[in-house]
Amino acid sequence: MTSDAVPPFRPDTIAVHAGVTRTAFDEMSEPLFLTQGYVYPTAAEAEAAFAGEIERYQYSRYGNPTVTMFQDRLAAIEGAESCFATATGMAAVFVSLAAILEQGSRLVAARALFGSSITVFNDYFAKWGIRVDYVDAHDNADWDRALAEPADAIYLESPTNPMQDVVDIAHVATLARRAGALLIVDNVFATPLGQRPLELGADAVVYSATKHIDGQGRVLGGAVLGGAEYVDKVRTMVRTMGATMSPFTAWVLGKSLETLPVRVRAQSAAALELAAWLDAHPKVAVARYPLLPSHPQYELAARQMTMGGTLVTIDIALPEGTDPHGPEAKAATFRFLDALRVFAISNNLGDAKSIATHPATTTHRKLGAEGRAAVGMCDATVRLSVGLEDVEDLRADLARALDAV
Ligand SMILES: *Cc1c(COP(=O)(O)O)cnc(C)c1O
Repeated sequence: MTSDAVPPFRPDTIAVHAGVTRTAFDEMSEPLFLTQGYVYPTAAEAEAAFAGEIERYQYSRYGNPTVTMFQDRLAAIEGAESCFATATGMAAVFVSLAAILEQGSRLVAARALFGSSITVFNDYFAKWGIRVDYVDAHDNADWDRALAEPADAIYLESPTNPMQDVVDIAHVATLARRAGALLIVDNVFATPLGQRPLELGADAVVYSATKHIDGQGRVLGGAVLGGAEYVDKVRTMVRTMGATMSPFTAWVLGKSLETLPVRVRAQSAAALELAAWLDAHPKVAVARYPLLPSHPQYELAARQMTMGGTLVTIDIALPEGTDPHGPEAKAATFRFLDALRVFAISNNLGDAKSIATHPATTTHRKLGAEGRAAVGMCDATVRLSVGLEDVEDLRADLARALDAV
């Protein structure tokens, strides 16, 4: 089965079969074309390739069959017309916007974003004369206000990291059309199995493949998906500036896509179970998870997402009168983290191995206490990435560590 045989199949089948190109050896598993370049049978064919008269592989910065297989498989899972793979998730974030913005453009972005994305917008786009306006991700009225004016692009993540705010993607998509802006959604937290931004009206989707798509903590990668015309602009920029995906990485990630639905489904089910249990635990002040009925945007999440994702964000309960941004809150939370035996202290997410992160001192350190407070984060906040271990072992690990608080 090749990618053009995909439409009648469901995501699990597509994830295993889409995009395969077999060589003359009829191998079962996807071949790894670890090559920089390609050979032309005649000088005239080389000339025709460079003149753009014929389509063929020329150089692996422009394209490689193993990378194409990964792109076609991910595009088929996402239901996107086209996909272009990049060296990292940040390369995907950068080119998804840099390929379409120019001096004088206006970008409207959600305030709660992956840290490096904010750095790209504030330290580089702003310097290049691109106006960046931020809105509160979960506040439809704030989107209405910001998009009453024309814009060129809109960029958001949903659910947000780490506070799990949910953005009404269909609403923002309607505003985007009126404002003349392209809507780009970073769908890392939800994964293609849990949320379909293109069907909700978004124009493009961005992934860090480093997270759930690899899901086994090995390689860095990224992807931009959307309409053919838009993805062509991304491809044209990346093949020149150089942040293409290596064929080895594409091979690892392409094979990982085969197990993505099974992994994400199992991890999400365990995350929901642990979230409900944590929310009721006396040593936990609050557990945030999109598909937990106590989530303030539960109805929107249930409408927009088919799975709640693999991440649970908790605040450790503190004694009355403790400053949640102070040293005692941090010390109590560190006691919890240091007592974990199955959860590893790390900053990745979506891995088969469960991970606990203290955002205030690591991933969200740069925000400062005020910036963190603005999105509802404190020193007692912990982000849990639920892996593939037995859920009872994870529950016991969390219970023991909560006792140590
Ligand atoms: C990790 C991440 C990125 C960046 O991806 P890298 O592969 O680390 O470059 C972008 N957005 C989100 C939401 C992420 O979690």
